[in-house]
Amino acid sequence: MKPVLPLFVFIDACGWEIVRDDSFLQGLAPVRRRLTSVFGYSSACVPSILSGRWPAEHRNWCYFVYDPKNSPFKSLRALRWLPSVFTSRRIFRRWFSRFIKARLRFRGYFDLYNMPFQYISLFDFTEKKSPLQPEGMNRGPNIFDYLRQREVRYHVSAPEQDEELNLAALVKDVQAERIDFAFLYWPGLDALLHRVGNRSPLVPQKLRQYEHWIAKLYSLARQHYAEVRLYVFGDHGMANCVELLDLQSSIDDLPLRFGKDYVAVYDSTMARFWFFSTKARQQITGCLKQVPQGRIVPDAELEAMGTFFPDRYFGELIFLVQEGVLIVPSHMGRRPLAAMHGYHPTDPQSYAALCTNQTALPEEISAIPHMFELMQREADLARERTSTARGALAA
Ligand SMILES: [Zn+2]
Repeated sequence: MKPVLPLFVFIDACGWEIVRDDSFLQGLAPVRRRLTSVFGYSSACVPSILSGRWPAEHRNWCYFVYDPKNSPFKSLRALRWLPSVFTSRRIFRRWFSRFIKARLRFRGYFDLYNMPFQYISLFDFTEKKSPLQPEGMNRGPNIFDYLRQREVRYHVSAPEQDEELNLAALVKDVQAERIDFAFLYWPGLDALLHRVGNRSPLVPQKLRQYEHWIAKLYSLARQHYAEVRLYVFGDHGMANCVELLDLQSSIDDLPLRFGKDYVAVYDSTMARFWFFSTKARQQITGCLKQVPQGRIVPDAELEAMGTFFPDRYFGELIFLVQEGVLIVPSHMGRRPLAAMHGYHPTDPQSYAALCTNQTALPEEISAIPHMFELMQREADLARERTSTARGALAA
């Protein structure tokens, strides 16, 4: 029997509005807190949770950036001649992404999404390492560096694995009392919400499944650890998509050439632009100002959100749509989705949730990067108690 297990269960898209009116974990983790998310997608949120820093500091923000010099995709340009009915199919893209990921030895999450092969050699991909591993951040340390340095034995999920396999892997480590810290990663709720929206009866059904798994895990852990300090949390919420915006067509209609006058990455809720002439900047800025579904985010606002990059690495101009608007087609997908995230962090559906069995949750834990402090604190506590227990045993 070990003294304590800090158990962090990360559920992608476990939003405040998703669980607010639900009895989710009221028994096992009755203390709840609404957390402010980070502007961006999981590519920004997860690294912020794991490092306690904001994207401007750790530089894991959006996946694709204009960087032809460092593009690892130069050889893919040849594929631009393949018929797009074939290369734009999701099934092909998914299979091909796995192939590319292995070839380029990317360790994080990788998907080509809907990036056109014609222009792919203009772009670099920013998550080459896995933020879920030590030395996995683009800049600075994460919680796994911290745990390794302090020799705290931990478990972390492999996010590409199926949820139940991840649970089973953790159960094994708990049974063997091999670990003093656990980080479990479940991506299923995010995928479900994208598909069915936040009002579907499948959502509470999924929450019941998580409750069931967490209850099983908790009671098992209690057989091996005197105390289990449980934290279940998300990185962002999910808003139903009520309006589609074909931003790309509006920009394409301008007398400008992609790759010559400007470059853009069309994410699902934002578009990021790089300009090669004053004319392009003026025309695109003018065009965007006519789009009522969104707005250009001023630098000061980006700075306040921790997503301003003075070197403009992620784009010289960031256009963001209103909650509920989806950019379709985009470089992320050709088809509409029922729901999306990546809107302004103060939009109602953006907030994340934290549920815990710890009544003394520090007041200052109010945004998802603060989860890092919490994890640090819990790791220190586990380390201290484990070494005291070991000392007592030795005596
Ligand atoms: Zn998502």
